[in-house]
Amino acid sequence: MNLPDPATPMNGIANARLPAWLLPAGWPLQAGEPVTADLRFDAGKIASVTPYQPDQNDLWNAHGALALPGLTEPHAHLDKTFTLHRSRPPKPGLLAAIETLHQDRQHWTADDLRQRAAKGMAWAAANGVTHLRTHIDWFDVVPPLAWRELADIDQPGVTLERVALAPLSIFADEHAADRIARAVAESGEHCLLGGFIHSSNWDPTAMTHLMRSASRWQLSLDLHIDEELSPVAHGLSWLAHYLTENTFSGHICCSHGCALASGSEQQARDVLSVLAAQRVTLIALPMTNLLLQDAVTGRTPRQRGITLLKEAQTAGVPLLLGCDNVQDAFCPAGSYDPLDTLTCALFALQLDNVFDRQSRLICDVAALTGDDQGGLPLAPGSDASLVIFPGSDSLTWPLHSAARLVIHHGRLTHQRTWNQELSHES
Ligand SMILES: [Zn+2]
Repeated sequence: MNLPDPATPMNGIANARLPAWLLPAGWPLQAGEPVTADLRFDAGKIASVTPYQPDQNDLWNAHGALALPGLTEPHAHLDKTFTLHRSRPPKPGLLAAIETLHQDRQHWTADDLRQRAAKGMAWAAANGVTHLRTHIDWFDVVPPLAWRELADIDQPGVTLERVALAPLSIFADEHAADRIARAVAESGEHCLLGGFIHSSNWDPTAMTHLMRSASRWQLSLDLHIDEELSPVAHGLSWLAHYLTENTFSGHICCSHGCALASGSEQQARDVLSVLAAQRVTLIALPMTNLLLQDAVTGRTPRQRGITLLKEAQTAGVPLLLGCDNVQDAFCPAGSYDPLDTLTCALFALQLDNVFDRQSRLICDVAALTGDDQGGLPLAPGSDASLVIFPGSDSLTWPLHSAARLVIHHGRLTHQRTWNQELSHES
């Protein structure tokens, strides 16, 4: 396969295999699979997407390789990432990781924060991520150093969003809640309000303050909510009830939601039907949930710890998969590659039809932002940003798919070549 010239804008891509979820109704099939597509670019935007026609010599030919729109990383922690070498928790589980992390904060100088966060952004960009949302810990009402230092981390081609992640207890004081929301609102675009909501700090009054302060400052929310397996975790049930009685102008993402898997089926159905009706997005984080839930030294975990993704899909809840922590006290591994997250979910959640249906879980920016006015990714007029997977096939993807070409705004920006011997064998 000849590669596009990184120095020259591309006219487009011929013969690329796009996933079924992305294609318009009526797209032709061959042997049950969508036929490949020709994508024409114009000034870094998509001009057209049409079924493949041979002999379009002005387009770069992908020879049927799988292709996706730019990938989405909806849930990272760039302030904590790459601290594992100096910060290892003494025992397993979420609360021990939180304690260890607090001890690492003494090292969080401006240089330390910027260097680690920039590394995470660079890895994500090389993997094909075009939109990354990071949570940043707040410890009181004053924006932390990381909030400011990470504001202008610039990685070309990647839109960065910041979520102020404060413990729910801070919102118990109505004035403190308002000060945090105001500081976030005055931090510019791509900033959201967040909170850590867990049965260990449950406080419905603080929840009300959190919701009202977000509304007052017209902020969207991304909540760490019910990251536990307690059948009496309150967060999502409370939120569903609140949203049936109050209007909320922004968009809401709920990250984790593990406890949905511990309560009754009826309770889960009730919560999911409200989330679907209110267009609340659920973000599952399979890697850290598998690592941190039901974690006891010397004992094999019995539960998977992951939210009810299939039931949420059936209910029509917008869904995404995120990496969560990467190489810190919460998770020693991680790569900022959404394909690794999807691979983990494939096994943990027993996903099928992974390329044609479930790849949407790592590409759906509209599910993250709540802005679905632009239609599906790669619609005409949207950014010509794609990831191509040479040598992969729709049955085994996302495994064996480390090789890829990343195209931002119609130009090749990153390439990772594949094992030529294996490609010859195939
Ligand atoms: Zn998180």
